[in-house]
Amino acid sequence: MAIASVNPATGETLKTFEANGPGEVESRLAAAHATFRVYRTTSFPERSRCLRRAAALLEEDREDIARTMTSEMGKPLVAARAEAAKCVKAMRWYAEHAEELLADEHPSDGDVRDSGASGVTVRYRPLGVVLAVMPWNFPLWQVVRFAAPALMAGNTGLLKHASNVPQTALYLGDLFHRAGFPDGCFQTLLVGAGAIEGVLRDPRVAAATLTGSEPAGRSVASIAGDEVKKTVLELGGSDPYVVMPSADVDRAARIAVTARVQNNGQSCIAAKRFIVHEDVHDAFTERFTARMEALAVGDPMDESTDVGPLATERGRADLEELVDDAVRRGARALCGAGRPEDRPAGWYYLPTVLTEVTPKMRIHHEEAFGPVATVYRVADLDEAVAVANDSPFGLSSNIWTRDAGDMERFVRDMEAGGIFFNGMTASHPAMPFGGVKRSGYGRELSGHGIREFCNITTVWTA
Ligand code: NAP
Repeated sequence: MAIASVNPATGETLKTFEANGPGEVESRLAAAHATFRVYRTTSFPERSRCLRRAAALLEEDREDIARTMTSEMGKPLVAARAEAAKCVKAMRWYAEHAEELLADEHPSDGDVRDSGASGVTVRYRPLGVVLAVMPWNFPLWQVVRFAAPALMAGNTGLLKHASNVPQTALYLGDLFHRAGFPDGCFQTLLVGAGAIEGVLRDPRVAAATLTGSEPAGRSVASIAGDEVKKTVLELGGSDPYVVMPSADVDRAARIAVTARVQNNGQSCIAAKRFIVHEDVHDAFTERFTARMEALAVGDPMDESTDVGPLATERGRADLEELVDDAVRRGARALCGAGRPEDRPAGWYYLPTVLTEVTPKMRIHHEEAFGPVATVYRVADLDEAVAVANDSPFGLSSNIWTRDAGDMERFVRDMEAGGIFFNGMTASHPAMPFGGVKRSGYGRELSGHGIREFCNITTVWTA
C-alpha cells in the first residue's frame, strides 16, 4: 500500500510520501534504544512537564490537525476536533496520575514473612522500546492512548501508523519532539506493513502494541510470540446493543444512531448488532430506522454533516460485499443498502438497517466497518444473552434495561471487555479499555493500561 493522503470525499491524492529506507529505520531504532537508557532514569515530574506541554501544543493546533485528519480519512470535522480534545484530556490525566498509578507496592509483612524477607517492594520499571502499530480510524487518539502512558512509564515509542494517514503520523512525531521529550523518545517510522517484522524482531525492541484488524493482530502477535515479546492487541468488534422491555425505548433508539454511525460507522466500539426484545422491537426499529434515514450524508468538512465517506475505497467495497451477501441470503434492508446517488465521487455509503439476519450470512459473524446496522428480534433474556454472545468478537456491549435482575445477568454472562448500561460505549482515560475473544487481549488506559508495558519487579531484601 502506498504511503499517501487520499481524500476519501473526492478520491483525490493530496500528497504522497517516500517510505523510510533501511538506513533511516536503523537510525530511528538506534535512537529509540539509546534514548531509553537515559530516559528511563528521568523523574515523573520531568515526564509530566513534557506531556503537559504536548497537551498545550495540541490544544493550540487543534483546528489544523482536525482538518488534516478529516482530509486524510474522512471523519466529520466536528468529530475530528472532539478527538483532538480527547487526546489533550488523556495526556493531562496521565501527566497528573502516572506517578500514583506506578507507585511502589509493599505486600504486607504478614504475607511475605515466610519468604525470609525483612522487606519486599514491587516496583513498576519501564520495559524499553515499544513498537506501536496503529490504524487510521482515530488517527490521533489511538496513538495518544498508547503514547501518554508509555512515555510516563519511562518507555520510548516507535510509531508505525496506517499508510493512509501519513500527515497525522508525522504530526505526532513532531508534537512530542516540540513538547521537549528527548530526541528518540517518540518517533514516527514512515513504513508499510512489510517492514514491521524486521523492526519487531530487532533485539532493541522490547514489546509491541497493535490496534487494527484481526489479520494484522495475528501477524504481529505471532512474530512477537516467536521472539517472546509482550504484546497488547486491540482488534475488531461487533458490539451488541440490547434493548429490553424496561428500557426508555425512544432514548435507546436515538443513542443507537450515534452509537452506530460515529466516525462514519468505522469504530471498533460502535454498536453493530441491535438485539431487541419482541415487546419493544417494532417501536424501537421504526424510530431507529427513521433516524438513520434522516442523517445528513455529505462532505465531512461541512459542519452539518452527520456521516461522511468511508476512509478507503477498499473499505467501502468490503462493506458492500457484506450487505449484498446478507440481502442475497434473505435479509431485508429497511433503509440504505447502497451509495448515495448525489455523491458520485468519494467513497460514500448510505446509513443502512438490515433485519431478518441469520447465521448463514457473513454479516452475522463479521465486523461491518461502516454505517450498517443489523436488528435481531429476541423473545426473552436468555435469547438476548445468547445472540449477544454469538460473535467471535468480545470488545464492549451496550445494554438498555432498568431491571436490576437483567443487569446482574448481563454482568455475569456478557463475553465482552465492557458493559455499558443505558448509554453507549465510550472510552475514558480512567477506565480500562480492551476486549476478549477475537477482539484481542491486554488493556489500555487507566492503571491497567500503564502497567502493560512495565517490568513488574519484585525487590526482596533479607
Ligand atoms: P489494519 O488494516 O489492520 O491496519 C492497522 C495497522 O496494521 C496499520 O498500521 C497497517 O499498516 C498495519 N497492518 C496491516 N496489515 C498488517 C499485517 N499483516 N501485519 C502487520 N501490520 C499490518 O486495520 P484498519 O483497517 O486500519 O483498522 C480497522 C480495524 O481496526 C477494525 O477491525 C477495527 O475494529 C480495528 N480497531 C480496533 C480498535 C480497538 O481499540 N479494539 C480501535 C480502532 C480500530 P498499513 O496501513 O501500512 O497496511
